[in-house]
Amino acid sequence: MTALVQRYLDGILAEHAGVSQGALANYIPELACVDPTGFGLSVSSSDGYVYESGDADVQFTMQSISKPFTYALVLNQLGQDDVDARIGVEPSGEGFNKISVDQVTNMPKNPMINAGAIVACSLVPGRSVDDRFDLVREFYSACAGRSLDFDDDVYRSERASGSRNRGIAYLLDSFGALGADPDDALDLYIRQCSLKVTSTDLARMGSTLARGGLNPLTGRQVTDAAVVRRTLSVMVTCGMYDAAGEWVSAVGMPAKSGVGGGIVAVLPGQLGIGVYSPRIDDKGNSVRGMLVCRSLSQQLGLHFLTVSSEAHAAIRGVYNPRPGVRVYEVHGDLLFAGAEQVARTATRDCAEFDTAILDVSRLHTISEPARALLAGLSDDLQALNKRGLLVDPSGSVAPATAAYDDLVFATVEDALTAAGDQRS
Ligand code: GLU
Repeated sequence: MTALVQRYLDGILAEHAGVSQGALANYIPELACVDPTGFGLSVSSSDGYVYESGDADVQFTMQSISKPFTYALVLNQLGQDDVDARIGVEPSGEGFNKISVDQVTNMPKNPMINAGAIVACSLVPGRSVDDRFDLVREFYSACAGRSLDFDDDVYRSERASGSRNRGIAYLLDSFGALGADPDDALDLYIRQCSLKVTSTDLARMGSTLARGGLNPLTGRQVTDAAVVRRTLSVMVTCGMYDAAGEWVSAVGMPAKSGVGGGIVAVLPGQLGIGVYSPRIDDKGNSVRGMLVCRSLSQQLGLHFLTVSSEAHAAIRGVYNPRPGVRVYEVHGDLLFAGAEQVARTATRDCAEFDTAILDVSRLHTISEPARALLAGLSDDLQALNKRGLLVDPSGSVAPATAAYDDLVFATVEDALTAAGDQRS
């Protein structure tokens, strides 16, 4: 634990503790019964350490925060093409409980509004609602790293008062938009909204998304990176009701809020954040939750469009172990832009060496486009009458083909020996 981080979080919570604007959601009667003063913040690092401040152990119902997780579940189960054939990815520009369907296809505009979420529920596989709910609960619990409880009172309250959602389900059914019986889809939707979490659960669920589907607490790969990328994409554009533009501008993280007062926010590769404060604004977002996320983002520099100098850090070191030979050490997580810089630097400076040795033994991960670029560097250098050798003990860059046998080495020493042979 870092005391400084804990102080930051406590300070941010204290900064907004006195705000009492907003009101409890009351269109689901049971939601109006919660303690309006509850206020919790949890932040999970990408390796699973969680900082907590305030009422981080108070449980509340997920409500709409369930939507991205069920969307991820059906993407995982059915594949993106089948899901895309049923649910769009465009912001609707309308309230969460409007019948926002595409005029031509009759598909819901996105999975973060009720219509899209009810279609997503209709796609969850299973023979009964109980089966499907087991799958949903299991998936959410795997993201949180603990078994989540169910709030029967909130469930019954929403079932008894949910005419609007029932109307949406039946209209969707009349369009042929559902993959299951409308009552079953609706029942599953209300059940998932009634699953209970704490702000710490949300932070952990967020960190599972931040890690591309790997829960850092349990080490379990819950879903894959492509599913997470798509899910985070719709959270960016549609996650915060009608405040998506304001949210992205001021906070800059994929997020989802719910009328129960929770917000989950994700900083890809870095953090999962959970906030709870049940008084919501007229768009449906937790008032203090929004303020906390805004402060966190500004004070800790978390906006996901902050331009970093990461690409420049790809080359860790450059040295000439002997005349005519230059070693480029590459490290970290290499994406296209970093690899492009490495390749360009080596070809630009080729007048200064006969042989370039690219040492990728300290690479952590490399994307496929970056890998292809570095694997082709030898050919590029050859066209310039230079040699390009690779130190790649784990085969993270070079394809395992005979064509690379003379170019790839386990250590810099081995590559240097080979460079010497080639010069003689
Ligand atoms: N169960 C709620 C509803 O459908 C969820 C709404 C929300 O959190 O946005 O009305």
